[in-house]
Amino acid sequence: MSIHYTTIALIGVELDINKLYQPVKERGCQHEIPLSGGNYCCICGKPIWIKYNRVIEPFADADSPGEFLEGLVYERLELVVSSSYDDRVFLGLQASCRNWNKEVEMMSLEHVEIAQIRQSLQQFLEPLRLWDEAKFGLWAIMKHE
Ligand SMILES: [Zn+2]
Repeated sequence: MSIHYTTIALIGVELDINKLYQPVKERGCQHEIPLSGGNYCCICGKPIWIKYNRVIEPFADADSPGEFLEGLVYERLELVVSSSYDDRVFLGLQASCRNWNKEVEMMSLEHVEIAQIRQSLQQFLEPLRLWDEAKFGLWAIMKHE
């Protein structure tokens, strides 16, 4: 058994993980029961309320709202989550990528305007209150597969 990593170079920002979740409280089942006392449904035995942290839009996986939707989010900007142990979340343009058993894929930066990427990120993230000028740059990310 071995551990495989992918390394990624990304021009973009690290997002503040604490701002990417919102607490959610939902009914555990659809039975109509009096909501007084008790933690479990008297008909099916499921918890009456389920509490969890949901990933905010537009970063949530529609099939699993507690998880991040990795990949293209806006224009050419991709969401990258570093690992499942130490979640760090990045948004930007992937400049290159190297899988554990593959050659390095290099992206030509000939037609890439760094200022344009910065502007796209700022436009996209400011309304979400996630833009942080100090976090914009070239990131080297090690991603656990
Ligand atoms: Zn029930």
